[in-house]
Amino acid sequence: MVAAVTKQLNKNRSMDKKVTLAQLKEVVQEAYDQVKTNTGGKNADYIPYLANVNKDLFGISVCLLNGQTIHVGDTDYRFGIESVSKVHTAILALRQYGAKEILDKIGADATGLPFNSIIAILLENDHPSTPLVNAGAISACSMVQPIGDSAKKWDAIVGNVTDLCGSAPQLIDELYKSESDTNFNNRSIAWLLKNYNRIDDPDMSLDLYTRQCSLGVTALQLSIAAGTIANGGVNPVTKKEVFDATLASKITAMIAAVGFYEHTGDWMYTSGIPAKTGVGGGVMGVLPGQFGIAAFAPPLDGSGNSVKAQLAIQYIMNKLELNVFSNNHITVVD
Ligand code: GLU
Repeated sequence: MVAAVTKQLNKNRSMDKKVTLAQLKEVVQEAYDQVKTNTGGKNADYIPYLANVNKDLFGISVCLLNGQTIHVGDTDYRFGIESVSKVHTAILALRQYGAKEILDKIGADATGLPFNSIIAILLENDHPSTPLVNAGAISACSMVQPIGDSAKKWDAIVGNVTDLCGSAPQLIDELYKSESDTNFNNRSIAWLLKNYNRIDDPDMSLDLYTRQCSLGVTALQLSIAAGTIANGGVNPVTKKEVFDATLASKITAMIAAVGFYEHTGDWMYTSGIPAKTGVGGGVMGVLPGQFGIAAFAPPLDGSGNSVKAQLAIQYIMNKLELNVFSNNHITVVD
């Protein structure tokens, strides 16, 4: 009887819906056209290189799980990956240590505080809370194997980004220098973590973190990385298995919890897609089992999130009624 009632309710309240490739393309173009002229926000300027990036650059890219991509605008421009790289290195740490050890040593909690919060480290007295804020990302760099060997750790970090994106990123030397010269807050974080015995070598861990943030990637590459997560660890374009399928829901849960830092709740509520931002202007979203999406535009809101990238992704999700929390079963078809 209960089963029958539940079945009836489900029948009434959920819906199978198909979104065609043509519809998706049309809506991505609409999102681009609508958002392109928005003048809100301003480039990050606490890292001098970022202040000088052309503020009018804008691109949107979607990677479907069959490897097809849809791209509009400046999707081939290489911008600083910045904090989106936290997702990539969290995946590497998950691959090397497994889900339980990462939860125990770093955690998967939202801090509810800005990305570079020092007070968040003091409040969480047992671990840095999540690899997707600065403290946890520096900890993840410290954990990357082989421990103690900076060159080999760097190779592992770049190799993992390459596998996720389906092609190699390129270090933006000028950004790396600019960020290394000015990362005083992150130096404090690294040494505070050392004080609490949460990382091994603060200088090495911070340098690896700063270098990974300075990798240049395109929106197309980020959409493929997101597509790899949405596809359970298999890169939809190269077909390479990058990580174990069981880790896909773990990384997506982390992104959903803290991808927009202290505004993650608002983001999830208004967009319905777990996504990670970076102060370079990139946003990378994962719709599990459907697609990966990335948008890029340098001007940021007050919390360090790209204004146009947010608007574009929100537009696409809402227009197509796609939502990770929806009880509708929506599939993107050819
Ligand atoms: N490298 C930047 C920092 O640590 C990343 C911040 C971000 O993209 O949110 O300040």
